[in-house]
Amino acid sequence: MADLTTDVRYIKGVGEQRAKALEKLGIHTLRDLISWFPRRYEDRTALRRIAELVPGETACVSAMAATAPTLTFTRRGLDLVKLRAVDETGELDVTFFNQSWLKSSLKKGETYIFCGKPEGGPRLWRMAAPIVEPEGKREATCRIVPIYPLTAGVSQTVLSRSVRQGLDACADILPDVLPDEIRLRRQLCQAGFAYENIHFPQSAEALALARRRLAFEELFLFTIGLRRLRKRREVVHVAPLQAVDMDGFYRALPFTLTEAQRRCVNEALADMASGQPMNRLCQGDVGSGKTMVAAACVYFAVKNGRQAALMAPTEILARQHYAGLSPLLEPLGVRCALLTGSTAAKAKKTIAAQLAAGEIDFAIGTHALITGSVEYANLGLVVTDEQHRFGVSQRAALASKGAHPHTMVMSATPIPRTLALILYGDLDVSVIDQLPPGRQAVETYRVPGSYHPRVFNFIRKLAAQGRQAYIVCPQVTESGDPEDDKKAVTEYAQTLQREVFPDLRVAFVHGKMKPREKDAVMTAFAAGETDVLVSTTVIEVGVDVPNAAVMVIENAERFGLSQLHQLRGRVGRGKHQSYCILISDHRNEETAERLRVLTKTSDGFKIAEEDLRLRGPGDFFGQRQHGLPGLKLADLGMDAQLLQEAQEEADSLLSRDPDLKTCPAIAERAEALFRQAADTLN
Ligand code: ADP
Ligand code: MG
Repeated sequence: MADLTTDVRYIKGVGEQRAKALEKLGIHTLRDLISWFPRRYEDRTALRRIAELVPGETACVSAMAATAPTLTFTRRGLDLVKLRAVDETGELDVTFFNQSWLKSSLKKGETYIFCGKPEGGPRLWRMAAPIVEPEGKREATCRIVPIYPLTAGVSQTVLSRSVRQGLDACADILPDVLPDEIRLRRQLCQAGFAYENIHFPQSAEALALARRRLAFEELFLFTIGLRRLRKRREVVHVAPLQAVDMDGFYRALPFTLTEAQRRCVNEALADMASGQPMNRLCQGDVGSGKTMVAAACVYFAVKNGRQAALMAPTEILARQHYAGLSPLLEPLGVRCALLTGSTAAKAKKTIAAQLAAGEIDFAIGTHALITGSVEYANLGLVVTDEQHRFGVSQRAALASKGAHPHTMVMSATPIPRTLALILYGDLDVSVIDQLPPGRQAVETYRVPGSYHPRVFNFIRKLAAQGRQAYIVCPQVTESGDPEDDKKAVTEYAQTLQREVFPDLRVAFVHGKMKPREKDAVMTAFAAGETDVLVSTTVIEVGVDVPNAAVMVIENAERFGLSQLHQLRGRVGRGKHQSYCILISDHRNEETAERLRVLTKTSDGFKIAEEDLRLRGPGDFFGQRQHGLPGLKLADLGMDAQLLQEAQEEADSLLSRDPDLKTCPAIAERAEALFRQAADTLN
């Protein structure tokens, strides 16, 4: 007797040869086959009489071949098969291209279904290259037809026939992984109905039911997998950190923390005092003040006699953190050091020795913090800033420097909370959902390239008031060759200096510069010694210059929404009204819509949701993170509600039966789904 692990080659009607072809798609077992979901569908349900046809509207017609098919050849070497078909309401001329076999297989006097786009009108209708099937044998017409993702050597027909065979083979053995109770509560259809209708929908409604059910199943199993992973983590025990009087720290700050910052700090401190390693994502929009949350955690860990490390994705950012935090923390007795790629070899050695001896409490830096030779005496807390820039392995390497240090990752990519739960899997999430007081929204405009003179005048006007401006250029080449970017940025800055702003101080920074040079430029800008800074996206992350009040973004259409929001976050950080000007000549409606989102809202979460909706989760995280493995149907942008329901059910099941003793199939499927996914989660 067959089960879902049966090799497809043993399924009746599939056989060796098709099995070989299916293998190329990664379809090995019966389960793989029936889980190979259509990419999209074509609605071929409309069955019309000839008189009811509408030009350009795809439809199926049941008509008799009134003439025998004729075969002719065009001068360009195309062979044409033509015939005239009739029903009681009219006449239809059909033409097939390069399907000469139809000449002998279509018979005068027989009735066929023709499905295609009609042209012409009541006197005579025409259909070019329709799909044709004998009236009595409808497979690809008169229904909603699945269109599968394919590979060379496997056609739609082969796939859909194989799936048909597969579904027939498992009709009686298809287990329903979802308990009836959940199914009924959430109004989900049965597995058999779902698999049948996701492939061969009886109607649009049936398809919707099938999709909902299967998407729920994915999200449910995924959540179960995540929860179990987290549980495994919780087995680790570490010495709980002791309560610390934080007043000294709070009094040293030039401002009071916002309520949201306080909440995040408290959540993190509670984690560190819990006896289990903290594993927390601190998420806050640009400018929400994540750095001080990190600083509070560092203070807490150091006062507990532990070392802390803060890892930033760029040299500029690491230096900025050091410049900001060491004057605050040193007087409180926290010995700080900066360690980056450009730290001189001798200094590096000294710092490494001090870290190993426990003479430095707090190391700030780039990935230089985790290179093999750096050892820590007693690393207790690792904070990674803007973590989406870091790979899993880098984070893991830093964490491995201490025996289960507490970890906190800070991200300004404001992803919807539900999505965060999935993406960051086993992390707890804190959200700083409040900006420090007194911030004004950045006024944002989209203008065409012809507005350049006006934009430059505007910059000049603000510069006269003492403000500073950023001008960001996108990557020039598809390849992203830094040489080209360097050239573009350098030349643009020189032209601006010479021809537009001879009286202002223009500087530039690009990815090809040595860290020391970059740093010098940024430091000068932060000190107000530069009026206009031309750059590539190196300033995207984290840089804090409160006096900068204009952000001009050239070719704004080339950036993702969230990236634009990050860039915009570089201004509006001080008390001055700030502006963001998106320059784009792109006329595409989708681009216009994306840019409009930015001009309308400054809420990072809303923008992220829009970004997710417009681009899908695959693109949202850029090239590196292609969608979510294991989730074939569920769309995290569209299915947020379904995800919530799935999570509720997963949690309630796990609270009743933590080890899934009553439903081993769920445990098994969740593990399998999760194994595929775990690699890409970080
Ligand atoms: P981000 O969350 O983008 O990393 P930062 O930590 O860089 O934000 O903080 C942005 C700016 O806001 C900094 O200049 C910082 O000093 C300031 N800031 C942070 N918290 C507060 C607060 N509670 N009140 C006033 N200003 C604050
Ligand atoms: Mg920051």
